[in-house]
Amino acid sequence: MKKEFEELVEILHICRSNCPWTSRQTIESYAKEAFSEAEEMVKAVEKKDHENLKEELGDMLWDTLMIAHIAEQQGLFTAKEIMQSIVEKIKRRKPYLFEGRKVTIEEAGRIWEEVKAKEKLSAGKRNGC
Ligand code: MG
Repeated sequence: MKKEFEELVEILHICRSNCPWTSRQTIESYAKEAFSEAEEMVKAVEKKDHENLKEELGDMLWDTLMIAHIAEQQGLFTAKEIMQSIVEKIKRRKPYLFEGRKVTIEEAGRIWEEVKAKEKLSAGKRNGC
């Protein structure tokens, strides 16, 4: 999967640099595309159309990676930081997975919500709320 991911990112970079349409797109225009693709993905799930689901997930991945790439080009943040951020979030919100602890579905939901509430509280404090 690493090889395929690297090929996808390489094609994305080529596309962003050389395609006249893609090179003019913005985070905002790709965000609209991503929203539309998410709707198409939900429809594919509802229809249980797995071939179409595969295609729509690819479209969503493309748009997500393109937004990340444009953000990186603009110096906002890096793709590496996005991946680090989601890994850290999952580790915070599902600590039992990394502590070798078994939890019930109810405990998993409660832990997720408790950690999320703490995060919002500290984010509010950082923003002066
Ligand atoms: Mg699509």
